[in-house]
Amino acid sequence: MKSPLKPPYDAAGKAASAGSRPAFPVRLNTDKSNPFAPKKIAAAVRGTSAAGQNDLKRPFQAGASGGLGLDSAVRARMVRLLAEQGVQNAQVLAALGAVQRHHFVDTALAGMAYEDTSLPIGFGQTISKPNVVARMLELLQQGLTDASGKLGRVLEIGTGCGYQAALLSYLATEVYSIERLRGLHDKARENLRTLRLANVHLLFGDGMAGFVKGAPYAAIIAAAGGDAIPVAWTDQLAVGGRLVAPLQDASGAQALVVIDKTPQGLRQTLLEAVHFVPLKSGIG
Ligand code: SAH
Repeated sequence: MKSPLKPPYDAAGKAASAGSRPAFPVRLNTDKSNPFAPKKIAAAVRGTSAAGQNDLKRPFQAGASGGLGLDSAVRARMVRLLAEQGVQNAQVLAALGAVQRHHFVDTALAGMAYEDTSLPIGFGQTISKPNVVARMLELLQQGLTDASGKLGRVLEIGTGCGYQAALLSYLATEVYSIERLRGLHDKARENLRTLRLANVHLLFGDGMAGFVKGAPYAAIIAAAGGDAIPVAWTDQLAVGGRLVAPLQDASGAQALVVIDKTPQGLRQTLLEAVHFVPLKSGIG
């Protein structure tokens, strides 16, 4: 069996300096005090938890310290709305409840971080709206064949600000995330540094080639859409694994595509229309 790579790696697969290595492994926190444990999320969704009762009425505001004091209540509201819109997977909802989306966007946009909207993250790129992120993560989880309920190694193409990589760290054993823009790669590293997500490995490079050193992957997820799924991605997908990505047709319209790699070959399913930034080759 292939042993998992140790973090962190750059795009060439070289270990980065020990100084930048985060310290703690990430686990889904099942501690009863955790308001975002799956059961509590379910309660919040039903509107029966402390976090879920009144937060719809509360404005999203910065705390006196300049921090976002009510962010957990606002996040719980976002999670409840996502559940009402049909997101059912408890792990995905728990991850969305745990990761502070406002931490990944500019302070000026923090007040909109828990609205169901995409937001600019600089360099002409955007962070997808929570609903789309949740949908894609749920599709990955639904493809899961592992009885542990956790995805194995996952490859993300398009790190952006690192938000989805942080969510994936709750759902997968190892997350390899590639970004082609140096400025965003650095930004994601900065955003993730304080979160100490030891199972997230940020790579700088062209994700069109995948990242062969981490393969095979239980799941591959792309946050940018091209007119074809690169062969490298399906090659690097494990048998039994699932890929979720936006795919563009000849008219330029995008739809989500799910590709399952079965022992008999690839099975492709086209889903709803989406709007992602373009998948580009090379680095910038
Ligand atoms: N998941 C991200 C969303 C980022 S938007 C988040 O949570 O913030 C999509 C990203 O894909 C952009 O940052 C863009 O630069 C990147 N991208 C586009 N083509 C790419 C490629 N070939 N390799 C790696 N990243 C790519």
